Amino acid sequence: MPMEKLVGAVLVLAAAALAAGGCGGGGDEPPVVVRMVTPAGPPPTPTLPPGVSPTPLVAPELVLSTMEVYQAGAVLVSVTGDVAGGQVSFLGRKFPLIRGSQSQFTFVPVATDDPPGQHLLTVDVRLPNGTRGTLEATITVLPAEWTVDYLEFSPEQSAELLDPAVVAAELELLRDIYVKVTPQKLWNGPWLLPVQGALTARFGEQRSVNGAPPSGHHGGTDIGAEEGTPVVATNSGTVVLARELKVRGNMVVIDHGGGLYSGYAHLSSIAVAEGDRVEAGQVIGAVGNTGLSTGAHLHWEMAAYGVLLDALRFTDGSNGF
Ligand SMILES: [Zn+2]
Repeated sequence: MPMEKLVGAVLVLAAAALAAGGCGGGGDEPPVVVRMVTPAGPPPTPTLPPGVSPTPLVAPELVLSTMEVYQAGAVLVSVTGDVAGGQVSFLGRKFPLIRGSQSQFTFVPVATDDPPGQHLLTVDVRLPNGTRGTLEATITVLPAEWTVDYLEFSPEQSAELLDPAVVAAELELLRDIYVKVTPQKLWNGPWLLPVQGALTARFGEQRSVNGAPPSGHHGGTDIGAEEGTPVVATNSGTVVLARELKVRGNMVVIDHGGGLYSGYAHLSSIAVAEGDRVEAGQVIGAVGNTGLSTGAHLHWEMAAYGVLLDALRFTDGSNGF
């Protein structure tokens, strides 16, 4: 019986409101059945007592926020139906399914240097009766175009703040936070811009410092605004970092659950403490020029499973949620 149920499973492309029980955005277009899927391996021998018929299962369905995702974008992957658990694999990374109100879900990140083209996404699912199966879909990774930012720092700034050991230690501190996975949906509804202002440096921008060849990728989105302008949480979650750092200055990091984090750097002041629960739109600090910064602006980071993502794709709809 479980075999037939899994064979009948279909992949459905739908907006995120359907995907994770209210992640905001879209929802106008009807779900599109994309392809049939097949189970992996034979089902186990039923262990039900004689005469007892198994409870009918609702066949698992794979629901994706988008089939085409840009480098530094993310796909919201959901599995609906009777599923006990599972794991998503994409581009050599693995992500656990997390139980939501109407489905099990995870955010699947695409890194800046992941190769464009078609890649197979697989979901190994476990049904309540122990049966295992695989749902799969082909995702197209689209190339993002990176701009170049030419920066000048004074010798004093360069000596103190561009010390590789200082930069590395801060990256390690943040990476240790960003790789933790809280198995709960802490975000709710659409993702908000933390501050209104001019976009002064895009995510992924390559940097040339003091005339050196462009290298690396800017790990956040810079929004220019007057010092003291309130900065709000892009979504609800738990504050896991609220302190002064060398490079990013005063910084707040919010855990949104499901491996997803937002970070807010160069703040002039911090209005929350580590451990606080915050709601979307709640003021968490103010725009500033602290740390390695050449003017008042917000440096806004988003990360899923330790992979830094383009924050604007959470607000412009290009991730499909
Ligand atoms: Zn920045």
